Formats: sequence, C-alpha cells, structure tokens
Amino acid sequence: MSQTLHRDRREDARLGALLQLDLLDTPPSESFDRITRMASQIFNLPISAVSLTDRDRQWFKSRVGVDHGSIPREGAPCAQVAETTDVLVIPDFQQDAAYADSVLGRSGIRFYAGAPLVTRDGYGLGALCVLGTEPRSVVESEIAALKDLAAMVMAQIELQHAFGRIDPLSGLPSRNQFLDDLADLAAERPDESRLAVLIDLARPEQVNDYARVMGLGRIDDLIRDAALGIQRAIGSELKLYHTAATQFAFLAPRGVVQDEYVRSLTEGQRQEQQRSITGMLLTSAIGVTAFVPRATGPQDVLRALYGAVQEARSSPDLVGIYSSVADAAYRRRYRLLRDFGPALLSGDQLRLVFQPRIDLPTGRCIGAEALLRWNHPDLGAVSPGEFVPVIEHSPHAQAMTAFVLETALAQARRLRAAGRAIVISVNVSAANLHETDFGTSVRDALRRHDLEPAQLELEITESAIMQDATHARRQLDELAAAGIRLAIDDFGTGYSSLAYLQDLPAHVVKIDRSFVLKLGEGEKEVSLVRSMIGLSHDLGYRVVAEGIETAEAVDQLLAMQCDEAQGYFFARPLEVEPFQAWLVDHERVARAAA
Ligand code: C2E
Ligand code: MG
Ligand code: MG
Repeated sequence: MSQTLHRDRREDARLGALLQLDLLDTPPSESFDRITRMASQIFNLPISAVSLTDRDRQWFKSRVGVDHGSIPREGAPCAQVAETTDVLVIPDFQQDAAYADSVLGRSGIRFYAGAPLVTRDGYGLGALCVLGTEPRSVVESEIAALKDLAAMVMAQIELQHAFGRIDPLSGLPSRNQFLDDLADLAAERPDESRLAVLIDLARPEQVNDYARVMGLGRIDDLIRDAALGIQRAIGSELKLYHTAATQFAFLAPRGVVQDEYVRSLTEGQRQEQQRSITGMLLTSAIGVTAFVPRATGPQDVLRALYGAVQEARSSPDLVGIYSSVADAAYRRRYRLLRDFGPALLSGDQLRLVFQPRIDLPTGRCIGAEALLRWNHPDLGAVSPGEFVPVIEHSPHAQAMTAFVLETALAQARRLRAAGRAIVISVNVSAANLHETDFGTSVRDALRRHDLEPAQLELEITESAIMQDATHARRQLDELAAAGIRLAIDDFGTGYSSLAYLQDLPAHVVKIDRSFVLKLGEGEKEVSLVRSMIGLSHDLGYRVVAEGIETAEAVDQLLAMQCDEAQGYFFARPLEVEPFQAWLVDHERVARAAA
C-alpha cells in the first residue's frame, strides 16, 4: 500500500517535471530532428524518436519513420525506460513475453533500443529510441552512442528551457523566472509576508538620448555594469532578476522590517547617484511592495512593483512604496475605459440630461446644455467629472461625442416639433478637434435631423483649444463658417492668452462656475467677475455665467450686464420628461412676470 503511494507520488513529481518544461504538444523542431536522424543513421534503422512519457501516452517530440504523433503509454517500451531510467534493449519482440503482444509488437516491430532522458533531478522524461522491423542485436559502442544522443536531447531541452529564463545581456534570471519563483514561493511559504523591490535604472528618454549619442553597445555595457553593481549592493545570496531592459527585481531577505529596509535602500540609492562612476547621469528609481504570496499572485506583485516605481519617479528621494489607494484609482480608471465601449452599445447605460440656460434680462429659457450621464451596471452612477477625462484621452473620444451629438439633436428636433426651438449646447473634447472630418460629421448630423446650424452650440474648453491651437483653429473656423455657434467653456480656468482668444471665431464665453460661486465672498471676487464680463463684451462675446445657486448672484450678474445664466438656482440638469415639463412651467411663469 505505502509502496504504491510512494510510486504515485514519484510519478506525480515526474509528470510535474515534464509539464514544467512546456515541451508537450509543441511543434517539431530541427534541433531535435537532427538528433533522431543521427540515431537512425548510426543504427541503420528506419525508425527513431524522442518519445516523452505523458500520463497516458508516449508523445513524440521528434520522429523519423513514424506516422503517429503519439501512442498509448500502456505497453510502450519507452514508458519502461522513463520509469526505470535504464537503457532497454528488446532484440526480438516475438521472443519477449512482455512486449510480443504490445501495440508495437502487433504492428510489426521486432527490435527496440531506448536510452532514458533524465533530468538533473533524476526524473525520467521519456526515451530516445530506435526501432526496426527485423530482430537485431546491439554492440556496446551502439549503446554508448545512444546514451550520448540521449544526453544531447537533454542538453537541448535544458537549453530551450533556459531560453527566456536567462537574460542574454546580463546573464541574470529573467522576468519569467521571477514569476515562476514567486509561484513557487506561494506553494512553499504561502503566508509569509515578503518585500519585493524593483530598480529602474533610467528614465526611458535618458536611455534613448544616451543611445543616440554613444551607441547601443555602450548602453549594453552600462546595463551589465549596473547589474553587477546592484548584485554587489544587495549581496550575492539574494537572487537578482533582470525583468525588463533597464529594470532589475529581487526579494528582500526573509523577515526584514519594511521601514528599515526601505531606509537603507534610499541611502544606498543616494550614494549610488552621487558616485555616478560612468560619468553618465542615470536617474534610477526604486519601487517597493510588501506582499503575502497566498494573497497576491506573481503578476500582481510585478504590477505593484511597476506602480511603485512609477510613484518613485515623482518622489524626491526616488523611492516609491506601492499604495493600494493609488492602485485602486488606477484600476477604476482602467475599468471605466474598458467598460465604456460596451456602454455605448448597451442602449441603456448612457443618457443625456438637460440644464436650462436663462436669458437674464427677460428671464426666458433660450437654451439648454446637454450633459452626459452614465449608469454603470456594477458601479452605479459615474459622474462625468470622473469618466469624461478618462474617455476623452482614449480612442472612445470620438464615439462619445458622436453619441451625445446624435441624442442631443434628436431631442432638439422633438422640442422644435413641440414648438420650443431652443438652442442645445453640446460639450466637445480636444480630441474631437483633432478629427479631420469633425466639421463634416456635425453638419451631416444636423442635416439628418433636419435642423438649422443655429440650433446647435458647441462648448469647447479653453484648455482644449490651447492644446493644439493651430489645428483646433482650423476646425473652429470650419464650424463657425457653417453657422454653428461656438462657446468657450470653463472660461478663466485655462491659461489662454487673451490675444489668442480675441482672434477665435467663438460667439459665447461661459464664465466658469468657480468664479460665480465665489461672488458672495467679497469685493475682489465681484470685481474679477465684473472685469471678465466687461472684457468678454469688449471682445464681442455674449457672456454666460455658470453655477448660479442664489438669487443674490442673479441680481449681481444682472447688474454687471451678464447676458445669460445657468445654475441650480434655475434648475438642476433634468431628465428628458421633467425638462419638458419644466419648460412649459417656466414659460408660464416668465409670461406672467412680463
Ligand atoms: P461643464 O460643461 O462646465 O458643465 C457644467 C457642470 O456644472 C455640470 O456638471 C453641471 O451639473 C454643473 N452645474 C450646473 N449648475 C451648477 C450649479 O449651480 N452649481 C454647481 N456646483 N454645479 C453646477 P456635470 O454634469 O457633472 O458635468 C461636469 C463636466 O463634465 C462638464 O462641465 C463637462 O466638462 C463634462 N461633460 C458633461 N457631459 C459631457 C459630454 O457630453 N461631453 C463632454 N465632452 N464633456 C461632458
Ligand atoms: Mg459645458
Ligand atoms: Mg463649464
């Protein structure tokens, strides 16, 4: 009983060793075929194979004169070679009680000789074998040759396995090896908290600059030197990994205290920077993360290290410690980005709300701003203040605006049909101004909905315009020429030069709500808004104040001759139905007041 158990364990370990090598079911390769060809030639036999012993089959990594890719393990002589790790010779199948009736025996094979493929740890992976259809004997020199060839197969297997595990430049274990070792750690000491460290030698642009000046060969030397330096600094008992071109990782010794260890790293880092023996200014940064192997997978440890080293770049001592807060924020942004595409297609996650715009002198509603809302299936309502900046910088920017434009124009059309032809404002991103055909697609959309250009206003933030002034300018000119109103949104928050704004084909300036909300605070705040309005008027713009929350603000803005107002005081952004009801109601009140 206990012997079977032992045998099963041994077989599990053997299979584990085989699987780890990632050889099974890989395509044929010339480096193995060369060896089988040689074996078949030495023995002057038609059949030869590198045969690996999987759980239930013999799988051929290389074969000469064999049609099958594998045969059953049961009754296969190669399986016996793998299990015993001894050479096996069967001079004549028909004289051999054990093999006469085997699959090979029945298929006409008479002769077999196999040498074991044995790992350094002593596991038999399979055999290098030769087979013939006639009985045959072997001489000692043939067996020696077969063993040599089997050793060559093993050398080839080890070489392939090391490939991708050793960085050819530094000779250090690679990122793959780092990940594998972390996985082993999770199996061996799953609950022991450890500290991982990543050292990034240089900013990418430093490497590029240096390569341009000195050539790539010098960069290689530098990286090799750095590898030696780091290994010296951390001590030879720690395994150092070369995880990316300029990055090295290692696990701090077991049981170190995080704060102390990080302090010593920081100190070493400072000295290293000062030494700068190479005469080249590399700015290396260090990222650190603590983890418990059971809880954090290998890939996540690496990701945490990347995050930490990124943080390090913006910290004065160039040492960063992984923070789950920063990471959570990053992951949320990533999630929003990933889920926005499906949201666009979902039909029910995205919708528009409308916030009225009031003509101050008459109190009438003359327009509304369309504002995007996202109801995420898991995260619930996500504010545009959060998702718009993420999407704006992604390939979805174009589709987002297209969706808003389409939905807003459909609403404008319904309103006009109901006798309320108000202007609908749509927010446009910097990315939209980079689309070469943005103007054309806006005009197409208007035409599709049978609307006049004057019924649409596009809001563009100051910073969006300034991002690529020349290109933005061309788009704006085209839109303005088509009769579409343009508004400069969030006015006062960007850093545009007045000389530049003066020149823009815009019609409206929307003073940012941060200024309007402060109107109650003091005389300085009031004069600031007053001069913004005065200045905009002087330049020929119509002025809209955003973020009006109180009756006092309305009075103040009226006194400053502000043209229009938008804010919670009049109405919050409203869903389609309540918005229409609000319009009816507001009209009645405005008429009564007049
Ligand atoms: P924005 O274009 O400046 O829009 C005005 C924002 O001010 C809206 O926030 C609105 O709800 C808010 N607001 C209006 N009145 C008041 C008030 O009296 N007090 C205060 N405190 N806030 C008020 P919202 O809807 O959260 O949108 C935030 C920003 O997201 C927008 O600022 C705009 O930049 C962006 N955004 C919204 N929808 C879209 C869209 O469809 N496309 C693009 N590109 N950006 C959008
Ligand atoms: Mg806006
Ligand atoms: Mg605004």
